[in-house]
Amino acid sequence: MFADVLLPVPFNAFTYAVPQDMESCMSKGKRVLVELGKSKRYAGIILKLHNNAPKGVTIKPILKVVDESPIVTPQQMQFWEWVSSYYLSPLGDVYKAAFPGGMKKEQTHPQKPPSNSPKGKLEGVHEGLLSPAQQSAYSSILDSWEKKNICLLHGVTSSGKTEIYIQLIQKAIEEGKQVLYLLPEIALTTQITNRLKRVFGDALGVYHSKFTDAERVRVYMRQLNSEPFKVILGVRSSVFLPFQNLGMVIVDEEHETSYKQQEPAPRYHARSAAIMLAQQYGAKVLLGTATPSIESYNLAQEGRYGYVLLTQRYADMQLPEIEVVDIARLRFQKRMKGAFSQRLIDEIGGALERGEQIILFQNRRGFSSLIQCKQCGWVPRCQHCDVSLTYHKVRHALTCHYCGAVYELPDHCPECSKPEDAPSKFISIGAGTERIEEQLLQLFPSARISRMDLDTAKTRAQYQRIIDDFSSHQSDILIGTQMVTKGLDFDNVSVVGIIDADTMLNQPDFRSYERTFQMLSQVAGRAGRKGRRGKVILQTRSADSPVIQQVVDNNYEAMFREQCEERRLFHYPPFYRIIYIYVRHRDKDILYHVAEEMGKHLRQAFGESVLGPSSPTVGRVASMYIQQFILKIPPTASISSIRSHLLRVQTKIQSLPYAANINIYYDVDPS
Ligand code: ADP
Ligand code: ZN
Ligand code: ZN
Repeated sequence: MFADVLLPVPFNAFTYAVPQDMESCMSKGKRVLVELGKSKRYAGIILKLHNNAPKGVTIKPILKVVDESPIVTPQQMQFWEWVSSYYLSPLGDVYKAAFPGGMKKEQTHPQKPPSNSPKGKLEGVHEGLLSPAQQSAYSSILDSWEKKNICLLHGVTSSGKTEIYIQLIQKAIEEGKQVLYLLPEIALTTQITNRLKRVFGDALGVYHSKFTDAERVRVYMRQLNSEPFKVILGVRSSVFLPFQNLGMVIVDEEHETSYKQQEPAPRYHARSAAIMLAQQYGAKVLLGTATPSIESYNLAQEGRYGYVLLTQRYADMQLPEIEVVDIARLRFQKRMKGAFSQRLIDEIGGALERGEQIILFQNRRGFSSLIQCKQCGWVPRCQHCDVSLTYHKVRHALTCHYCGAVYELPDHCPECSKPEDAPSKFISIGAGTERIEEQLLQLFPSARISRMDLDTAKTRAQYQRIIDDFSSHQSDILIGTQMVTKGLDFDNVSVVGIIDADTMLNQPDFRSYERTFQMLSQVAGRAGRKGRRGKVILQTRSADSPVIQQVVDNNYEAMFREQCEERRLFHYPPFYRIIYIYVRHRDKDILYHVAEEMGKHLRQAFGESVLGPSSPTVGRVASMYIQQFILKIPPTASISSIRSHLLRVQTKIQSLPYAANINIYYDVDPS
């Protein structure tokens, strides 16, 4: 007997011989211990058992059977195969992403239910009553599920979407079904976890990538036993958990780009994956957001998804008033205090006086975006990446935000001075969160300020601490990157300041406009207290850009229509599908040569639908040079034939003698 075994390496499967004494305990979905190459041992998953001896290769034996019963269900297997084929990544990479780390090593895990086996009863009754607006949205969702499996809940910030989810979850549980509730990584805070724990008690499982391996293994294994969790609250990767009777999937903040995995493969989108998963189980899907993705909204418009609109904030809170401040003009008139306009300073001062809190948003961490020699204009750049370095004043260092390299601050400019000269003068350009904090301290010396970015919130505990401090009013002003926009609900924030709305808008990406709208609307939505309208000061150099006015008017429709016109014209989603094809190599000349060759093959297959090769915005990262192709696929094209064309080109390229170490990968539906 032979077994095809899936290993956590970027291939599809390997064949091993099954020793006779193991034959009786072989079954699909169990783990076995095998050797790969000379010394590596892995726990692999049995995909298939058969009697076809592979020819012309030596077949190694399976060393040990790890599990008593299968730990990957047939539905999971089918789901993994979908992810692998849709996102053009080997099945082994899917296995790697799907399992907590510890389960890919050789030790076994108990499969028995834990001793104080929860009976899954709900602890405490949930008391929250829905407001009339919430109640009507709730009913509309149920109605829409009668006709369509997927429903988009478009509810403004603070409309109380979570409360609606809770009621829907309770209903699903009463019907004996399981629920998957997805949140973006950073929005999964103890705030939401505690809120759900209070309602669902031990029936709730939380699945987070920052949890220890043991915790994640525990959640995974309980999903297989006779008392699985009734509700899983989890991040992207929880779509890979086993379910027994999935009846409903909620994708909260469905517009969030972080649902798309960027690195490593499989580069899957958790929203699409969740929809696929739900389809497998015949489950209903609810996509919730205040700022829908263009894709989902378009499908709702076309009538493919149900659509429920909720325009009222809970408890009749008003949406904040947004005031645009043209900082291009103020800067020209030299009327800015650092990054702050007088309007913003006044609003912050007023809120502090009234004992209210303030959130300041700047989507750039570090002190300045770059430093520059005052004399010759030299800018320090990363040795491994094609980007300039960011200055971090606290660490007194320059860092690369692409590969993480840290450099000492030079005291001499290598271009225009020598070590024996006096130290060169550098000026720092652009303000990051660190610099905002420094300027703010000068403006408001007695304010208590905290900062939330990748530097101050490296761990989950640090992140949580900053949020807790702010919630309990230990700090008055919270400065942060996009981290502050995610699903946080503070009830004493009356002023939100957007330091510079332009960073995102100026990015060379077809989604930059949509992203800007979403980001600004979400940050603005943090403002507002019960009984008092919140205020947002939006500083921008693009005051005339239509997107700014759309944010001010909270006019999603207008943004959507404008974007659709443009995307239809230039063949972008939702009208065309996009696949980015990347080629990477350490050697620039080899890479360019291979990319040229690949371009010819791709054009043979796809004609004018393929653009490239060209350098992406950052053409070298961590010493690897990168070339990119863009493939635009009309809605009528057959995805499976595109896939086979792509894989054929890849095989051809990789068989070229000089292209041995070339790395080719795909980003399907990039975001
Ligand atoms: P959203 O997710 O739509 O932005 P939330 O669900 O976070 O909004 O709700 C906003 C605030 O209103 C929260 O503080 C929440 O506790 C409160 N809230 C919403 N609905 C109810 C309800 N039915 N009963 C009591 N409080 C509610
Ligand atoms: Zn210089
Ligand atoms: Zn770098």
